[in-house]
Amino acid sequence: MIGIIVDEDFASKNVPPYPHPIFASYESSLRIHSVLRFLEKIKLFDDKRIIKIYPKSIDESIIALAHTKYYIDSIKRLSSLGGGLLNEEVFITEDTFQLAKKAIGGTIIAIEEVINQRINQSIALIRPPGHHALRETGSGLCVFNNIATSILYLREELKYDKKIAIIDIDNHFGDGLAQYFYDDPTVLYFSIHEYDFMEGEIGFIDELGTGEGLGKNINFPIPSNSTNDDFLESIEILELVLREFKPDLIIIAAGFDMYFADPIGNCLLTTFSYYKFTAAILKIAEDICESKLAFILEGGYSLLGLPVCVHSVIKALLKEKYEQPSFEYLDFSDNSKKSEISKIKTMLKNLLANYWDSIG
Ligand SMILES: [Zn+2]
Repeated sequence: MIGIIVDEDFASKNVPPYPHPIFASYESSLRIHSVLRFLEKIKLFDDKRIIKIYPKSIDESIIALAHTKYYIDSIKRLSSLGGGLLNEEVFITEDTFQLAKKAIGGTIIAIEEVINQRINQSIALIRPPGHHALRETGSGLCVFNNIATSILYLREELKYDKKIAIIDIDNHFGDGLAQYFYDDPTVLYFSIHEYDFMEGEIGFIDELGTGEGLGKNINFPIPSNSTNDDFLESIEILELVLREFKPDLIIIAAGFDMYFADPIGNCLLTTFSYYKFTAAILKIAEDICESKLAFILEGGYSLLGLPVCVHSVIKALLKEKYEQPSFEYLDFSDNSKKSEISKIKTMLKNLLANYWDSIG
């Protein structure tokens, strides 16, 4: 059984008050609108293996597990004043506080229902995204850190103390998530992200964690214009560490902005990658954690691409054949990044060999 976390508010509220091509304009309610209408059109919800789940209503004290009171109050105040702009890139509207709170509620239920094994896997179709958000401020279109808050809720409210792996496939490095768990040996953070080799800033391969968490923060940066083959090269190391770490739960920070038509990311993936990636992770999850997987939406801004990316994940979870949409006829495969990717893999393996027996 797959639970899809839905709520029409994500498809209609917190509309960016800016036109294209302003960066903030892409984190739009139309993203969820396009996914939900597509899933309805293909009659996905008639499938008995799929259930709709609505976000849990949460108390503000849960947000405070991961964010400072001052920051929570400032979002609340900006929302009540009708909106504003935070850090020059996080837009706030009158709906932001309530919707960002609901996004946490959607993430919590997506994870809780998987842990309770009421469902096998979940996909939370929520927004605004969360993986850049830090304890004291929002960043990069993210308001509250949905995944970090949910993990802290599991730890502190549910006393869930088992190991958790986060795999972040958003085009961008999830600096917020990395920081929350940088010294935590019970949370493995593995991020595959586009790395701008001209103006790189953070998300390097040698950011490995600190203290007891050393070796549990793993960055797999890939160059701009990476293709399906390049992206899928990350699975080899990912599989080794997952099988050795043996988490009880795997959370996917599911950003789909490496998609070739995405207006923000610069990679050239098609749904083939998301289908293959999900199938590979599902196989590993079946072996190590009773297939407990929660996909939490992060980025993904192509209104044509996002619905089919989500669909390709669902098809892989259902273990059904997947046919790429006809508009993915373009073939981006080339070998130009191959040597760079293999260099990154070798360097990363050398670093990880100090912390993982399965890598040497
Ligand atoms: Zn992103």
